[in-house]
Amino acid sequence: QVKLGHLDLEGALIARDRVGIQDFVLLDAHNSETAFLDNLKKRFTEDLIYTYIGTLLISVNPYKELDIYTKKQMDLYMGVNFFELPPHIYALADNVYHTMLSEANNNFILISGESGAGKTEASKKILQYYAVSCPSSTLMDTVRDRMLMSNPVLEAFGNAKTMKNDNSSRFGKYMDIQFDCQGDAVGGHILSYLLEKSRVVHQNHGERNFHIFYQLVEGGEEDLLRHLGLEKDTKHYSYLVQGECSNVSSINDKDDWKTVKNALSVIDFDANDIEHLFGIIASVLHLGNVHFDGDTKGYATLNTNAALRWLLEIHVLVLHEALTFRKIEAKSEEVLSPFTVDHAIYARDALAKAIYGRAFTWLVNRINESLENRDSKRKTVIGLLDIYGFEVFSVNSFEQFCINYCNEKLQQLFIQLTLKAEQEEYEAEGIGWEPVQFFNNKIICDLVEEKHRGIISVLDEECMRPGDATDLTFLDKLEEKMGNHPHFVTHKLANKKTRKSLERGDFRLLHYAGEVTYCVVIRMSKNPIIQQCFPATEGDSRRRPETVATQFKNSLLRLTEILTAKEAWYVRCLKSNDNKQPGKFDEVLVRHQVKYLGLMEHLRVRRAGFAYRRRYEVFLKRYKALCPATWPHWKGVPADGVEKLVQHLGYQPDEYKMGKTKIFIRYARTLFATEDAFEMCK
Ligand code: ADP
Ligand code: MG
Repeated sequence: QVKLGHLDLEGALIARDRVGIQDFVLLDAHNSETAFLDNLKKRFTEDLIYTYIGTLLISVNPYKELDIYTKKQMDLYMGVNFFELPPHIYALADNVYHTMLSEANNNFILISGESGAGKTEASKKILQYYAVSCPSSTLMDTVRDRMLMSNPVLEAFGNAKTMKNDNSSRFGKYMDIQFDCQGDAVGGHILSYLLEKSRVVHQNHGERNFHIFYQLVEGGEEDLLRHLGLEKDTKHYSYLVQGECSNVSSINDKDDWKTVKNALSVIDFDANDIEHLFGIIASVLHLGNVHFDGDTKGYATLNTNAALRWLLEIHVLVLHEALTFRKIEAKSEEVLSPFTVDHAIYARDALAKAIYGRAFTWLVNRINESLENRDSKRKTVIGLLDIYGFEVFSVNSFEQFCINYCNEKLQQLFIQLTLKAEQEEYEAEGIGWEPVQFFNNKIICDLVEEKHRGIISVLDEECMRPGDATDLTFLDKLEEKMGNHPHFVTHKLANKKTRKSLERGDFRLLHYAGEVTYCVVIRMSKNPIIQQCFPATEGDSRRRPETVATQFKNSLLRLTEILTAKEAWYVRCLKSNDNKQPGKFDEVLVRHQVKYLGLMEHLRVRRAGFAYRRRYEVFLKRYKALCPATWPHWKGVPADGVEKLVQHLGYQPDEYKMGKTKIFIRYARTLFATEDAFEMCK
């Protein structure tokens, strides 16, 4: 009997009936989106949130605690054959781990899905699985604890409450877990991507700044707050009140403060580090409270020095100048030109963002030092990629542009890698390859990133061009260069291409995941203050400065290189509904995600030739009782045993193929018939 969500081993290889099908490659109507959704829903209603497409794991956010993440469950999945137990994130984690050990190769798990779909939770569960179930030595325990503790710290500084998720990651994260050849976790390394710094100075209604600010103000010890000159009241700080929701029912800032402090000590931060770090955090809050008046000519003057006094890390005079004057280079002389009030506010905010961004980078570096593996022995890695999902807001700016571009890149990588993997498996097994049709989003990646022609190139040109570049000249250039592109729309072209009209200062991209309208981005990517405040420390100052967009593009390029060299595994997270409601399955919403995550296409690729494939040993072990020649033991090579077995069962020649290590079965029904026979003879 297959019991719902319970892990009784018997008959769990192919769970059907009430709980649907646990691997979509076995779905009969594999081309039907409706059948696909029905299956997901059926399982979701029974709290079965995981389903496979082959080795890809789909996870649907239940928005409630399920009793499936216990130590007992972990033990159950340890070292068990992937398909022998119901789908689980632990099964995937375990399979990756054993593949890494047996093949001594590098792997990565790409976790994708939109905001609030459960990516970060999934990545934490994988990390926990490794922390608990990998072999251990006392030395390694330290590394393990630090790896686990890096999470609450990074979440405090990099996550925030948004409309979509009370704990939304506002940065992309790639983490390598390094193992030695015995399988001990020996070290780790984190790369972070594009922190949403604008949140430091501005939050939309119903959203918050990064958690750490509230944790510090609400939870910070009296001594510390006094030392930093902070009031114990978030309402006091203009950077914390814009969203008008400092208190969130699901968040306890006081408790979280304790967790973060404890985590920092595990990661080996000493009192000095902590003072330095929170000095910076406090200075951002003080900076936000610096206000300006206009003088008779309309130029900005500071209206108070009170807040400035607390800006511990920065010299007050320098700061005063940075906030009210702009340096202009004229005929090789530096001239200070006064700011208007608007400019001064912009400069203040830019400075706050830059300071926070610096602190975050510093934090990631410090964590990396503490995770560093100082032993040079041979090691293999499992990489975990938890990166922001496709995002559409009512107003989308530069940050959404980057985030969505990143998603295009990852989708492109997914397409390349899955097709490649599938093709390679056919070749390795000596079975002919039949090509499949699907939408390739390369055309959109090119539109954004192509050298000399893509949107980022045009943006760079406009940013570097001295003089009169504005949002509108940028838009004109875009129109000139890519007006005819099928995935690009501007104001002038809007009515021709889509029915929805556009504002004059906007452009729209038709992403693989849907349409997004962006307000122009030029001002945000060109940030003189940051260059002024942090001169020459970064790289070679003679080099042509890079815009944020180009930096991001290059970092994605490097990420793609890192990933391409590894074996890929996927977790696709789906959001069940938009209201964080437990157990609610919003079909329209899920259907949309199934579509743009390319799940049907992936299934089509996986099913193109053969619905089902298993290693000979596994197949034989399960079904050997169905044939007198293989029962109770088959003494020869497994492949011959399988051949005997399927001939005895009456498989027709077109129904299956024998590869080098696996049997490939074309139709799910063939397998189901075998499975039925198996049930009968038990
Ligand atoms: P993402 O990183 O994709 O934006 P999160 O992983 O932060 O989303 O998940 C958002 C919220 O959804 C979590 O805070 C949690 O409440 C809930 N959630 C996600 N995954 C699970 C799960 N497997 N079980 C229970 N709740 C979950
Ligand atoms: Mg997240």
